[in-house]
Amino acid sequence: MILMRTKTYEIGRFLGIGFSCNVYSLIHGDEVTLIDSGISASLAERLLEELRKIKASLKVKNLILTHAHLDHTGGAATIVEKFSPNVYAHFNEAEAIMEGDESRVLTFMFPYGYTPVKVTHVVEDGDLINLSSGDGLRVIHTPGHTSGSICIFDEKNKILFTGDTIFAHGAVGRVDLPTGDAEQLIKSLEKLSQLDVITFFPGHEEPVMYNASQEIKEIYNHIKMYL
Ligand SMILES: [Zn+2]
Repeated sequence: MILMRTKTYEIGRFLGIGFSCNVYSLIHGDEVTLIDSGISASLAERLLEELRKIKASLKVKNLILTHAHLDHTGGAATIVEKFSPNVYAHFNEAEAIMEGDESRVLTFMFPYGYTPVKVTHVVEDGDLINLSSGDGLRVIHTPGHTSGSICIFDEKNKILFTGDTIFAHGAVGRVDLPTGDAEQLIKSLEKLSQLDVITFFPGHEEPVMYNASQEIKEIYNHIKMYL
C-alpha cells in the first residue's frame, strides 16, 4: 500500500502483522529501497509479491536494516537471494546480522529460523545513503533499544524512519534486551527531538503523519522523567 508521495519517490508500507515489523519501500522508477525486511522468509515472499503487484519491473536496490532483531531482519536473506541489494546496517549490529548471534538477533524469542546475510555497507552516525531519485537518507545512530539501532532521515522531505526507537502515541523501544540501555535511549530521543520532522514512520504500528517534531519532543520530555 502506498502511504505517501514526495516529489521524487513514493513510500509504500507492508504492514507488520503479529510480531513482524512494518517494512517501508521507497520507490523511484524501477528501484526500491527497503527499510527493514520483516520477521520471516514467508512474509518476505509476500512482500515481494506486493511489490510485483505495484510494478512487475521493480527491483530492490537497497536494504537498510535498522537493527539486528529478527522481526526486522528475518526476511533479509530472501530479499538478498532474489535481488542482491546493497545491505546497510550500523557498525554495532553488522556482526550480529552477519553471524546470526542468537542473543542479538533474538532467535530464542521468535519461532522462526534466521539465515544470516552479508552487510555490504557498514554505516555510522551521519552517513548519507544516496538514492537514484537524488534524495539522500541520513543515518542517525540512536542507541538504546540496541547499541546499533539507527533511524533514517530524509532531511529534504522531513521524513524520519524510526525503527524500534520511537513509536506513535508516546511509546519507545524496549531497553531490557541485550545491548539495550535506558540512558542511551534518552540521549537518542534528545537527538531526535532536535530534528525538523513532519512525518515519522515507526517499525511497528501506525505512523505520525503531521507535527512529528512536536510528538517526538513530547515523548522525550515524558520519557526522561520515567526511564
Ligand atoms: Zn527491536
